[in-house]
Amino acid sequence: QAKQARQGGYHFHSPELGRKLRERRQLEQDLREAQAQHQFRLAYQPLVYLGTGQVSGGEALLRWHRPGHGDVPPDRFIPVLEESGLIGAVSAWVLETACQEAARWPARMSVAVNVSTAQFRQPGLYEAVEGALRRSGLQPHRLELEITESVLMQDTPETLATLRRLRAMGVRIAMDDFGTGYSSLGYLRRFAFDKIKIDRSFVQHMAQDPNAKAVIRAVVNISQTLGIRALAEGVENAEQAELLRQEGCAEVQGYLFGRPMTPEQFATLHGPGQRAT
Ligand code: C2E
Ligand code: MG
Ligand code: MG
Ligand code: MG
Repeated sequence: QAKQARQGGYHFHSPELGRKLRERRQLEQDLREAQAQHQFRLAYQPLVYLGTGQVSGGEALLRWHRPGHGDVPPDRFIPVLEESGLIGAVSAWVLETACQEAARWPARMSVAVNVSTAQFRQPGLYEAVEGALRRSGLQPHRLELEITESVLMQDTPETLATLRRLRAMGVRIAMDDFGTGYSSLGYLRRFAFDKIKIDRSFVQHMAQDPNAKAVIRAVVNISQTLGIRALAEGVENAEQAELLRQEGCAEVQGYLFGRPMTPEQFATLHGPGQRAT
């Protein structure tokens, strides 16, 4: 390696890079153990009707407490799960667990599960969803799969076919982080989504930035025209909630209404007496 570095003038194996590679290998190893030793948990964040304050459901968010390191954010470890081929097993567990949990919630409440690009690349997503629903007894319309534009960017006929089969089963499909990709509007034409989740970045800036507010207004209008539900992500303060109310946004999610919480905490939101089972 030293020879290469001399010849090309590049430091392929600088101490810095070597350290990064070792850390990465260790992270992958720890994730393998996390999977085998059931270290993953799900947190649920409430989805709320802005008009009534009623909880419409919860989004399942993957959590990992890495021994010796503390909580690792999913944005950091999910890409590693995808690259190391572990995503299949972990996401099957997420689906299974979220459906089991939601089956005990009141029937008016649904559960949202994030599905990544890598999951669409693997065969068997449809069967995994079908199996999780059957085993949990959760009605299909109470399961909402959140996909990002990157799923549709691959745009293989198989991706669209899988989405359509899932939707035909009764499962709801939401477009997550709407507005952050390259051609969000184009995807609205090609696939009949049930929900648009307006990305947090627009909500964050809507009070100061007229453009952000205009985009939110436009998306709410489009969603109403198309008969799609619109939800605004990342609502952190009352001012944002009020502005969203003025724009006619029906549903919200964010720290103002509830942080991601344990299943037990989430269950107390609707009260044990109201549990469907
Ligand atoms: P996402 O699907 O857009 O999830 C929303 C993220 O925004 C969550 O971050 C949530 O904690 C955070 N959030 C919610 N309300 C607020 C707010 O008011 N302010 C701020 N600043 N943030 C808020 P989290 O849990 O770190 O998840 C990050 C991303 O990781 C998710 O983004 C999702 O893309 C991915 N992810 C999480 N769980 C799973 C999973 O089970 N499978 C897959 N494939 N991806 C997952
Ligand atoms: Mg999501
Ligand atoms: Mg999102
Ligand atoms: Mg987001």
